[in-house]
Amino acid sequence: MKIVAHHLPELNVTLHQFQGTDLRITCIPDMEANWPVKALLGSLSDDELQEAAQQAPAGSMDVEKGTIRLNFNIYLIETPDYVALIDAGVGNQKIRPDRPAWHQRNSAFLDILAALGVQPSDVNYLINTHLHADHVGWNTVLLDGKWQAAFPNAAYIVPEGELTYWTQIHAENSDKTTLHGAFEDSIKPIIETIGFQAVPANYQICDGLTFEPAFGHSPGMVVVRLKSAELNVLFTADVIHHPLQLSQPFAASNFCKAPDQARETRMSLLENAAKERVIMAPYHFPLPVFGQVEGGEGIYSYVPFDVEITIKD
Ligand SMILES: [Zn+2]
Repeated sequence: MKIVAHHLPELNVTLHQFQGTDLRITCIPDMEANWPVKALLGSLSDDELQEAAQQAPAGSMDVEKGTIRLNFNIYLIETPDYVALIDAGVGNQKIRPDRPAWHQRNSAFLDILAALGVQPSDVNYLINTHLHADHVGWNTVLLDGKWQAAFPNAAYIVPEGELTYWTQIHAENSDKTTLHGAFEDSIKPIIETIGFQAVPANYQICDGLTFEPAFGHSPGMVVVRLKSAELNVLFTADVIHHPLQLSQPFAASNFCKAPDQARETRMSLLENAAKERVIMAPYHFPLPVFGQVEGGEGIYSYVPFDVEITIKD
């Protein structure tokens, strides 16, 4: 196995790709941004932040400006048997007036997929670990003035607890702003057309690809594990938002629905990841994304893998 970085100059993006036998996993950032650290991790004191920043990988935080690098990474898995996308970014042209950074975006995600040789019709599984607006954007695209499934041949797979929860919330919400508008433009069009496959939080999608419960950040959230004799990769969704939380795993994000439960989920994930030498594929970490967790007993560090650089023309 190796990790390769492809820079695609015409699309202004760098893709980190995990290459195994018969398999590749590509991290496609739908968006990369600088965020004020307190807007994400408001509970950390200035001292805790300084300390955590020293442990975090270089470039993941600008201590002077008080900002962190935060990505929105869609993972593409390609095997001889299937093509899967794990989480679906912010999407394009979505109306998000209360989230200016997500409002009416025009990202090159589909062009990047095409550059990798993947057409929308090739995708077999579109997986939503949870239904927050920054994880469902590319569920749909605007075609002929209508939001339609972006991956028409894919099974759209979601944990059933998550779909039930947000459907209920939306039914009670008369102003249609559930999930910043994402329920109306990225979830409902799927329910009303090709449908979701709503599955238990412990579920095998296909050989070697499984859901595992990771509740707390959102009520029905799961993580996704890709396991074979050769590999143990964990797509960690929003159990951990940023490398700063490795040395400060008690720090819940400002966006966790049940912060105590989210904290327990994070602690047990980190403990297991360190023990099992899991290959981490985090959703919101900046590049370099792929890495391993080291440490134990509540104090961890993130050790990204070395990356070979290639320039793709
Ligand atoms: Zn998120």
